[in-house]
Amino acid sequence: MIEKLLKLSPEKLVKEVMSITDAETYKTLDAAIAHNYGLYPGFIPVASDGPWLIDVKGRRCLDGVSAYSAANLGHNNPFVRNVIKTFLDTASPTICGRFIATKPLAYAGKVLKEVTGFDYFLPANGGVEAPETAIKLARLYSHKKGNLEPVIIYFTGCFHGRTVTVTQFFEDAVCRDGFGPFPAGFHKVPFNDIEALKKVITRSTAAVLIEPVQGEGGINIPDSDYLPAVRELCDKTDTLLIYDEVQTGWGRTGKLFAWEHSGARPDILCTGKSISAGFMPIAGVFADKKIMDVLTPGSHGSTFGGSPLAMMIAIASVVEILRKNLPERSAELGAYTVKQLKKVAVKSKIIKEVRGMGLMIGIEIHKGEKNAHDYCLKLLKEGLIAKDTHDWVIRFSPPIICSKNDIDFAIDCFRTVLR
Ligand SMILES: *Cc1c(COP(=O)(O)O)cnc(C)c1O
Repeated sequence: MIEKLLKLSPEKLVKEVMSITDAETYKTLDAAIAHNYGLYPGFIPVASDGPWLIDVKGRRCLDGVSAYSAANLGHNNPFVRNVIKTFLDTASPTICGRFIATKPLAYAGKVLKEVTGFDYFLPANGGVEAPETAIKLARLYSHKKGNLEPVIIYFTGCFHGRTVTVTQFFEDAVCRDGFGPFPAGFHKVPFNDIEALKKVITRSTAAVLIEPVQGEGGINIPDSDYLPAVRELCDKTDTLLIYDEVQTGWGRTGKLFAWEHSGARPDILCTGKSISAGFMPIAGVFADKKIMDVLTPGSHGSTFGGSPLAMMIAIASVVEILRKNLPERSAELGAYTVKQLKKVAVKSKIIKEVRGMGLMIGIEIHKGEKNAHDYCLKLLKEGLIAKDTHDWVIRFSPPIICSKNDIDFAIDCFRTVLR
């Protein structure tokens, strides 16, 4: 097979890859790719139209997951795509090694500083590197203050990714068991319970690591006075407050960053997913000078993090997010969606609760014979891609560029399946 590929032009190579049949795709995924994901059956997208995914037979499914918010700008966003093509045509290097200065990284720094209000950006790749890096940063900062056994507090129901460090945070045995031993220095506290945090936070706590809205944990929205109270406790104990906004950032909850709802600004902010509009893994950490200055040449690094191509994509994505007013759009469409879904819930024996912040929406179902995954497979048959988080919550977080008509289509699917 490789012999055949060696003779192909770029166009023919793309055509060749995209021409294997659906049956062969499923078969080969089973035979040659690790089985760490269960696959939705019967749908293989080969084209897209904003928030819609289209298979080879022309069947359209509305993407109600947006790759967990990586595709907030829809799929293959035309503006970002054109920036990428134009940039590649300049023949600029796409990667140099961070010891070489590059213009896209510098410019991204300017843009991100203005947009986020943080002094510094530390670039990384996949989302999990953001909390990982934030933990390293908080530990180093704590060490330099003389705290040689810094503790990081994390929360029940949290999700920060899949590295060894954060894998210990899972309650779900499939996600956690068998991956130890785990690094020490972490302490779990119930989410949205300020008294519990008060009992364990001390001056030797290095940081509190929290999602302003828990995504993978089931779209869990804390009480409105919770994050300000966490901020106050952190201030009193000289503890760094880290928000993991890998999923909630860039407009998903109806503000540019979810922390803006509460006004409780973090010391370190983790970003990922949507900052690349879904074109490649881009993530990173924001912090002010006092904290970021503990890093010196050699203390941390990444081959691909901050590469010219990645930073050009980040700049284009941020420009498009702001130009399309994603935060406002998410707030409006989200309020409409929750209102409509609550109407569906009134007539449904299946739905227990609908909750959301912007277009980050969870539909919790009553425990019964069928779980959230079963209903997601039925939704797929109707043309809506939704995804279960845990057993009893269906997540709905479509690309924020979707239209009211798209939302109405999704509501119809929910009505049909959850009536
Ligand atoms: C998705 C996610 C991550 C991990 O991102 P990956 O790109 O999958 O490594 C970390 N934190 C939160 C809150 C996330 O939603």
